[in-house]
This record gives sequence, structure tokens and C-alpha cells, in this order.
Amino acid sequence: MFKEVEAYPGDPILTLNEQFGADPRANKINLSIGVYLDAAGKMPAMRAVLQAETALAAVLGTRPYLPMEGNAAYRSAVRALIFGAEHRAVSESRVATAQTLGGSGALKVGADFIAHYFPKAKVWVSDPTWDNHYSIFGGAGLTVGKYRYYDAATGHVDFPGMLAALEQLPAGDVVLLHACCHNPTGADLNQAQWRELAGLIRRRGLLPFFDIAYQGFGEGPDADAFAIRHFAEEGIALFVASSFSKNFSLYGERCGSLSVVCDDSTQATNVLGQLKATIRRNYSSPPIHGARIIARVLDDAGLRAEWLAELEGMRLRVKAMRTGLYDALSARCPGLDFSYLNKQTGMFSYTDLTAAEADVLRQEFGLYVLSSGRICLAALTEGSIAPAADAIAQVLKR
Ligand code: PMP
Repeated sequence: MFKEVEAYPGDPILTLNEQFGADPRANKINLSIGVYLDAAGKMPAMRAVLQAETALAAVLGTRPYLPMEGNAAYRSAVRALIFGAEHRAVSESRVATAQTLGGSGALKVGADFIAHYFPKAKVWVSDPTWDNHYSIFGGAGLTVGKYRYYDAATGHVDFPGMLAALEQLPAGDVVLLHACCHNPTGADLNQAQWRELAGLIRRRGLLPFFDIAYQGFGEGPDADAFAIRHFAEEGIALFVASSFSKNFSLYGERCGSLSVVCDDSTQATNVLGQLKATIRRNYSSPPIHGARIIARVLDDAGLRAEWLAELEGMRLRVKAMRTGLYDALSARCPGLDFSYLNKQTGMFSYTDLTAAEADVLRQEFGLYVLSSGRICLAALTEGSIAPAADAIAQVLKR
């Protein structure tokens, strides 16, 4: 019956992670998957989350289905976190928001919605981008193309190249934008560049789709949402897929959201209705637990302050790991320029390591990095900087 079914080659990131798990070497270091680890190399359970969970345990009781669009308190708290509670689009009820299964679920619900209402639209993603963008939008039946983004020579965004590429697109095409902490390069636009891009997007009639999976890890939760808030302020209709996997350290609870900024509240009501229909045909309704925790934390002043402080600590720890790795590599390879590490933001950096070098690092040194050269700084610790730098320096000197 199933002899036509081909073997799944595996997801490039998750497969490497499984390989890491099975690697018996005690000195192995995993910089491949995008997860935040604390100074002890452990995935943190955030204090605010544990407190909210303990309080909820006392009252949890029955577990009815949530509505298709999810938990109402969660949806409004998430909307305020992304747009700011005072944003005009929010106060004018122009934002349709649904709770989703992580950021991936938000992208999928958005992709299905676009495939239904704008079937001729092509989706454009940055070159490079998170691989799953191709799978999710392509899997929804949309054609996915890439626009110029990263300049390997400078370790930064080729902004003129990006503008020139987007200038060529027909009105109505969708442009996927990483709101902050670009995955995989760590190279972000600055605020002046976002303003210029908003002008182009509006003039060309393009439809921006923001992906914000690392809010709080760049410059802080408000600054990281600048682009989304600015585009919405400019009256541009847009999509936002958000994730709480990293900034609440709640990966397995699958908490995310999809927001669509519309021209008026009637459109927002209709769009929300169609998002509900999309969710109904996919998985009917989202799960209860993670959303209750997050709503509780965001709606309680004390817990929220505690969460923000802990998140800021995580952000600063990743920055310290960047500087630490920069110093360690610069000391070991005096002729080479690692300044891209300090220029880039968020959990990732795009090194110049080749796929062959990534193989050697893994096989000989037990250091796991992606074949694209992406490393996750958030998985480094004080203790792993020196051995990671030793391995990289040895490979670079060959
Ligand atoms: N977008 C980007 C850019 C990501 O890096 C990720 C997570 N790796 C996601 C979306 C998906 O987030 P989630 O794990 O919540 O589905």
C-alpha cells in the first residue's frame, strides 16, 4: 500500500539535534538548535512561569475546549505585547488575533489564509531564512521565492540590494520579514532602514508578513517590535506570527499567535472569522495550559515585572556570550575578523564556517553547528566558550 512513500531525510536542524543526543562524548557542545540555555547549560524554567503555574494548579479543574481562536485573555495580552496597548490599530479594533500552536502554527494558519484569499500571491523570504519558512508556505501551496538580504562580506544586511529586489515585486505579493533577531544570520535592519522599507512596501502595495520568534532577545521587547508597530502606524495591512517558545522558555507548550492588521474593524471581524475557519479545518482549537500561564504572567503586574527582568537577564547573557566568543576567537586567530559576532543581534550568528568545516567540527571535536555556519550563541556558556573557540580556531587554521 505505501511502497511509493519515500523515506523522510529528516529536518536539517532537528536531525543534528538527535545526533547530538546520541553522541557519547562527554565534551560535546551543541550550538545547532535555537534554544536558550542558562549559565549552567540548562534550559531554564522561568520563575514567573512557575509561580503562575503553581497558582493555576489550585484552580485548574475541568478542561473544556477553547474556542477556535483561543484564550481571550491571552489573545489581548499578546496583542498588547506586540503592538503596545496604546497602539491605534489596537484601540480601533483593527487587529484580528488568534492563539496558535507556536510560531510555526501561526505561520501555517497565515499561509493557509493567504493561499485561500490571495492564491496568486508569491511569498518572498530573505536569503537566507529559517528553512521551515519554505516548508510551511510551500506546503500551503504557495510559491516561495527569495530576496537579497545577507552580505557575507560585511556580516550585515545588504540593504540597497534588499530594496532593489523588493522594488521589482508585483503589488499583492507577500514579503516575509524577521521583526528582530534574524534567523539564521543575526543581521537586522536598523530603525531608519525599517522606516525606508515601510515606504517601499506601501508604495509598491506589498503585503508584509512579520515573524517575531525572539521578542526580547534583540534590544528588548518594545524595541524588538518597532518595525511591526511602525508599519501598522503607517496604515499598512500586515500579518504577524509570534512565538513564546524562547522568551517564556515554553517550547513544548506550543504558544504563539497570529495577528492580522486590517484597514477597519469590520474587516478585522471578518478576517478573525476566516482565521477561525482555517483553524477549525486544521486542528479545531488550541491547547489550554501554556496560554493560561502566559496570560496570567502578562496580566499580573508583579509576575510581568519578574518575567521582564528574567528575560532581560537572558538577553544580556547571550550578549556576553557573543563578546566572550569574539574575544576567544580573536585571541586564537589574530589575523581574522570576528567583528560580525558583536554586530549581530539575537540568539544566532552566521559564521563563515563551511559545510565541510561544520562536519569536521562535529566529527573531530564534538562541536555541533549547522552546515550553513549558523551558531546559536544562546547555547554557549562561560565553560564552553574556550573549548568551542579552540575547535573553531583549529579548523580555521587548517
Ligand atoms: N520563526 C522563526 C524565525 C524561528 O526561528 C522559529 C523557531 N525556531 C519559529 C518561527 C517557530 O517558533 P515555534 O517553535 O514557536 O513554532
